[in-house]
Amino acid sequence: MLQDSFGRRFYYLRLSITDVCNFRCQYCLPDGYQGQAQQFLSLNEIDTLVNAFAQMGTSKIRVTGGEPTLRRDIVDVVASCAQTEGISKVAMTTHAGKLASLAEPLAQAGLKQVNISLDSLEPAQFALLSGQDKLNAVLDGVESAIVEGMNVKVNAVLLRPWAEAQLRDFTAWLKDMPVTVRFIELMETGQHKAFFKSHHVSAEPHLAALKAQGWQVLPRGKDAGPAIELAHPDYVGRIGFIMPYSSDFCDSCNRLRITALGKLHLCLFSEQGLDLRESLESGNVQAVKDFVASSLADKKVSHYLQEGITGITKNLSMLGG
Ligand code: SAM
Repeated sequence: MLQDSFGRRFYYLRLSITDVCNFRCQYCLPDGYQGQAQQFLSLNEIDTLVNAFAQMGTSKIRVTGGEPTLRRDIVDVVASCAQTEGISKVAMTTHAGKLASLAEPLAQAGLKQVNISLDSLEPAQFALLSGQDKLNAVLDGVESAIVEGMNVKVNAVLLRPWAEAQLRDFTAWLKDMPVTVRFIELMETGQHKAFFKSHHVSAEPHLAALKAQGWQVLPRGKDAGPAIELAHPDYVGRIGFIMPYSSDFCDSCNRLRITALGKLHLCLFSEQGLDLRESLESGNVQAVKDFVASSLADKKVSHYLQEGITGITKNLSMLGG
């Protein structure tokens, strides 16, 4: 099992398979994707990578991007991860614009969990925040994933001045929706420092207000990530909070990240990506294992976001959020 010098164990890999995204979320790619066409990891390279991580104790893979469903071979990528010995859970983070038609083949390929990014249930607000007038397509994607029996989580970034409306609308929606809505505090990234300053809002008062309304914090599993989850007897769905600015956030870090170009990031906000591409291209599983195991000694105790340090992360589409 991969373990760092602070005793944290890493059984969870976030694998970006493309940088490209066709949404224009205001806090991520407000001007749309600006990159050049690049040689993203091939299926063979993904296979080598996932085998190496599985042999080092990784049991969960999250496929992310950019927008992972923009890759034509997305179903094969999921199948390849799901069929790897030692991998018990494959999840995906997506904007879900294409999920209505993909949910069935993805479920058949072994996708167990989908995290859908959805910042507003109000059509005009959704279009304003995401740059795409596609709320209905996204909601159809949510339905299709539920029908396929996937564990569905919705990620909503809390934003000033809309946070109260976000909380109100999503909470009402959860009365009958069997999903978990996780409210994420906006994180500062290299390209969006001004947006962060004007729109970041703390989740603390919202968490306190929900507790006062009878929402109860669920016990955290031993290997749980940093989300705090709440349930209420009158609601089918659950609520979660991801608060990267809380002081103990990094204590439960259990994940490593690989970019679509084959770089290992020890943290979402690391100063550099560590290049694995040569070993991936040559299919050298042992070299990947050696590289990852020795790199882990450099993992820092914190992301240092509280100090405004954002590393090389210009926006989260580079790495997958
Ligand atoms: N395209 C996919 C999607 O829309 O879910 C995957 C990539 S997207 C970068 C992953 C997640 O990161 C989304 O839920 C998005 O809301 C979140 N995200 C992006 N920038 C963020 C920021 N600055 N702070 C907090 N969350 C952010």
